[in-house]
Amino acid sequence: MTNREALQLPDSDWHGWLRERSGSLLEEVRRHAAAIRSGGTDPEAVLEMWNDLSSALRSASAIASVLANVHPDEAVRTAAEEAEQEASRLETEVGLDRELYDVLAAVDGGRLDEDARRVLELSLRDFRRAGVDRDEQVRTRLRELAERETDVGQRFARNIRDDVRSIRVHPDALAGLPEDFRESHPVGEDGLVEVTTEYPDYVPFMTFCRDRQARARLVAEFLNRAYPANEPVLAELLELRREHAQLLGYHGWPAFDAETKMIGKGAAIPEFVDRIAEAAADRAGRDVAALLERLQQDHPEVTGVDGVDRAFYTEALRRERFEVDSSEVRRYFDFTAVRQGLLDITGRLFDVEYLQVADAGTWHADVASYDVVRRGERLGRIHLDLHPRTGKYGHAAMFELAPGIAGRRLPEGVLVCNFSRGLMEHAHVVTLFHEFGHLVHHVLAGGQRWSRFSGVATEWDFVEAPSQMLEEWAWHADVLQTFAADSEGRSIPAALVERMRRANEFGVGAYARTQMFYAALSYTLHRDVPGDIAATMRELQASYDVFGYVPDTHFYASFGHLNGYGSGYYTYMWSLVIAKDLFSAFDPADLLAPGVAHRYRDRVLARGGSRDAGDLVADFLGRPYEFGAFQRWLDRG
Ligand SMILES: [Zn+2]
Repeated sequence: MTNREALQLPDSDWHGWLRERSGSLLEEVRRHAAAIRSGGTDPEAVLEMWNDLSSALRSASAIASVLANVHPDEAVRTAAEEAEQEASRLETEVGLDRELYDVLAAVDGGRLDEDARRVLELSLRDFRRAGVDRDEQVRTRLRELAERETDVGQRFARNIRDDVRSIRVHPDALAGLPEDFRESHPVGEDGLVEVTTEYPDYVPFMTFCRDRQARARLVAEFLNRAYPANEPVLAELLELRREHAQLLGYHGWPAFDAETKMIGKGAAIPEFVDRIAEAAADRAGRDVAALLERLQQDHPEVTGVDGVDRAFYTEALRRERFEVDSSEVRRYFDFTAVRQGLLDITGRLFDVEYLQVADAGTWHADVASYDVVRRGERLGRIHLDLHPRTGKYGHAAMFELAPGIAGRRLPEGVLVCNFSRGLMEHAHVVTLFHEFGHLVHHVLAGGQRWSRFSGVATEWDFVEAPSQMLEEWAWHADVLQTFAADSEGRSIPAALVERMRRANEFGVGAYARTQMFYAALSYTLHRDVPGDIAATMRELQASYDVFGYVPDTHFYASFGHLNGYGSGYYTYMWSLVIAKDLFSAFDPADLLAPGVAHRYRDRVLARGGSRDAGDLVADFLGRPYEFGAFQRWLDRG
């Protein structure tokens, strides 16, 4: 077995390195494309060249995307964005290259092994979905549509980002908010305090502000972000997508979009949404009744729960019923210990060692790099870039830096998060486990021969399942007690962890119903392209959500996932159903038992996209996945 080389990242002159690296990778793509176009007809050889082309293209995008999101130097980030766009343009060009398609379409799949045949079939499907086999007029229109969709989608997102609203409230409204919130919100000359609709303001304010009227004012602003600006933008986006799907012969966007997912068919989306809504109905009813009862203790005149009170009373009940004080919990989660604990736990689960690489030559001193090794063989390299800094990507995500190819390229991935350096919120510990689930998937599936299967190359509605499942380890005392200890070395008490978990699970029925409202909205808008979006939204909210509509608000105008997810917002819950079922195979009394963990590693993670996700899951579970575990989770509260 040859040990694959890690990328040699530079110590300085990132600009030059990026230019050289992107340039040579894109050149490689063009060279392989030319070779395929003029090449022979040996099926194996054609597929090999196609694999080299795909791998080079993917590498070019990966490097550019990482640097655009994490490099501390703005000039490098800008250059990386340009490199990313260049790679993306070439990808579009390749996808619409009729000559390439004709060569691949002429390959006799019968002479290939099963894996290679799958690569061929999936690649041809990608080509056809891009419209490569259509006549020139249709292809021209498809290209126009794709560009227009990107533009309009970006405008939709930009309108949301730019429309930051605010209210001014009496300083008394800040009673109940955390001290650091009050400190960062000084009283203005008018004697009032400004609170904005940005998440760092909005979330704590809606959770802790005891002034109901102030909450009502803020939620109304929040739910009207990007309205009315996004009303026509959304209508245009939906129309463009419908035309796009219909030009390719699909009934509408959901049918086109669902074809490459586990769910398979657009019409299966509303069936799934209804199934979850039904499964969650009893629990959601109990959740909302408890919230209303508690709300009426303070406001007897109120007859229903909506966005004004939802977060505030959920938090109140969690605190009152389960006595979880987040400042008490934080004491146990020191960042450095958590990071090491995560590596120790996942190292045991997946039978790997993480060897710190001191001279990985990365882009910032905060980054910790490790080789992932099993019995002397290096499987991949990971880079943990976990603290905030100016100009860095602001959320939590895994980025691939290099896709792995058996015997050729070492998989490398970067975890990009924004955690504090000292004590962490437990919610952030959960996020860290979640994102690490993507990272370990990328690395363990990095030994595939075909680029098409390497890493997190599975159906989009399965992608979250391994990460959602790994979150479970952050909710078990046996696991947490291996690393969570206060400054005097006392481990986190098991009883506290149990209360944390029960508090966290409060309200999941209502949560599931709200998620199904969003899922139904994303599907229905794309299927029907309704003239009156507001009316459609209100109808769907009444059918699915257990929380009421806040009058005169227009949530859809700021529902950013309509751009990124299209008609597929159901995916998060879809993969959660599977995550719960996967987890049911583990023994809760011994979450680190090696047998089941190794089986999961080998049958699900390591196989990447080489089989349909449903087949991988069935192979691991010994049966097709089912809803039982998810239903039991819903019914537990
Ligand atoms: Zn995720």
